[in-house]
Amino acid sequence: MTTNQDLQDRKDAVIARGMGNASAVYVERAENACLWDVEGNRYIDFGSGIAVNNTGHSHPRIVAAVKAQLDKFSHTCAMVTPYASFVELAEELTRRAPGNSPKKAIFVTTGAEAIENAIKVARVKTGRSGVIAFKGGFHGRTNLTMGLTGKVAPYKAGFGPFPNEIYHAPFPNAFHGISVDDSVQALKDLFACDIEPSRVAAIIFEPVQGEGGFYQVPPEFARVLRKVCDDHGIMLIADEIQTGFARTGKLFATEYLGIEPDLMTMAKGIAGGFPIAALVGKADVMDAANPGGLGGTYAGSPLGCVAALEVLKLIDEEQLCQKALAIGEIMKSRLQALQQQFPVIADIRVLGAMIAMELVDDAGQPMVELTKALVGQAKENGLILLSCGVRGNVIRFLPALTIEESILEEGMLILENCLKELQGD
Ligand code: PMP
Repeated sequence: MTTNQDLQDRKDAVIARGMGNASAVYVERAENACLWDVEGNRYIDFGSGIAVNNTGHSHPRIVAAVKAQLDKFSHTCAMVTPYASFVELAEELTRRAPGNSPKKAIFVTTGAEAIENAIKVARVKTGRSGVIAFKGGFHGRTNLTMGLTGKVAPYKAGFGPFPNEIYHAPFPNAFHGISVDDSVQALKDLFACDIEPSRVAAIIFEPVQGEGGFYQVPPEFARVLRKVCDDHGIMLIADEIQTGFARTGKLFATEYLGIEPDLMTMAKGIAGGFPIAALVGKADVMDAANPGGLGGTYAGSPLGCVAALEVLKLIDEEQLCQKALAIGEIMKSRLQALQQQFPVIADIRVLGAMIAMELVDDAGQPMVELTKALVGQAKENGLILLSCGVRGNVIRFLPALTIEESILEEGMLILENCLKELQGD
């Protein structure tokens, strides 16, 4: 029998160290919120391929849609000879994106590519070069998106120099003592000390910082950003790559903020595991780029388009926004109960099914080793957990929105047992 360890040894010999894997669990098959490794072990998956399988693994409707598409064709290149699903998906997303302005879309393949295109569009629309991003933000691993990312290890360390004209402002973060006023003042300082607003093309933010630690943007700060952008002709970009597609209890987390961004990036949950990403924005902004300026060979793959159309139907029919909210409520009460037992759980953050706990010691120091140990112990006990956070001390929970309640409860019990094993009763 092939073992996880055999495969890990073979992987280590041929895959560069830079592309790490969180656990040596080599997946044989996956169904809804569970996966099975090559040794036949079952795991409850609280990671969903990093917020991708919101509709669960191998949803039969998505599998059927993609199989049917495969029987017709798998690629023609949408920039050469397009297909109906490409148009239909754009119709759906432009209709569903928050705000009343007429919208247009483009499709690409990865989240980072969607961000790259958002910056290109903002620059061509404004004729300016500067971009403001936030400390703790994550926008990808390509050269430009790595520059936008506000987390050094492991994403930036040693990979410089970074593209110029990118500035990082502090993200408001109540738990770490950064108030909305602090962030607003820092933005003013940035305009006074680093770049004048008339040279800024875009401000990019995540409605909930993902890799950075699951910190929600306060709606009043989002409104300040909207006003600053309106006052100075700057494009506001909402990066919904991790937050989108019902994860937070709304189709897009921006809906909580009461603002309309100029541009929105989407990926991950958009197509239940098929590589497609989108940039959706105000039509006049999106149309600033000339024909041929945007695109890519695989951009808007027909397999991704049909999968995404099915995901949107499932979100409606299976009421996945409501399910995300229900998951959030259940996990919040379980985590609050655990917090009574284990004071290292210093903060619990919940927006729908985008849930995190931050682990801190008595002196307020991040418990990085405990976070790692918890991920490791959970794997041993049959639960896939993901960590995150600029300080590496946050556990994030991203279960499938279609998870059975009994499996959710079982997963939380495993978590409790792991904490007991590591922290004592
Ligand atoms: N933005 C955010 C908010 C993300 O969470 C990610 C992926 N973790 C990206 C951008 C980059 O997406 P991709 O890995 O598909 O390039």
